[in-house]
Amino acid sequence: MTTHASRPPAPPLSCRLLDHRHRFRSEGAVMAWACERGCGAGGSKEYASARAAAHYAAAFDRPASGDLGRKAPLLGMFPLRVWRWLRQRREGVVATGVAR
Ligand SMILES: [Zn+2]
Repeated sequence: MTTHASRPPAPPLSCRLLDHRHRFRSEGAVMAWACERGCGAGGSKEYASARAAAHYAAAFDRPASGDLGRKAPLLGMFPLRVWRWLRQRREGVVATGVAR
């Protein structure tokens, strides 16, 4: 068991918001992956054969553009929806709470 004296640097904001964009490749019987943004995240896994490692690397290594398209609108709309909800709520309180 090895221990690391220093913690790896914090991942960039894009990795924290949208998760790492891992790219997978195979080297012999080992499948290895690393974050495309170069933040240092990654890992490796050994398979029984080079063919299995290549198979899994190809299966996991999909372009991330579709993934980004699905996540981005949700992330972008969320603060606006919260702000609108808070504003409506406050206006509702003002309208009903003030005695005339
Ligand atoms: Zn990353």
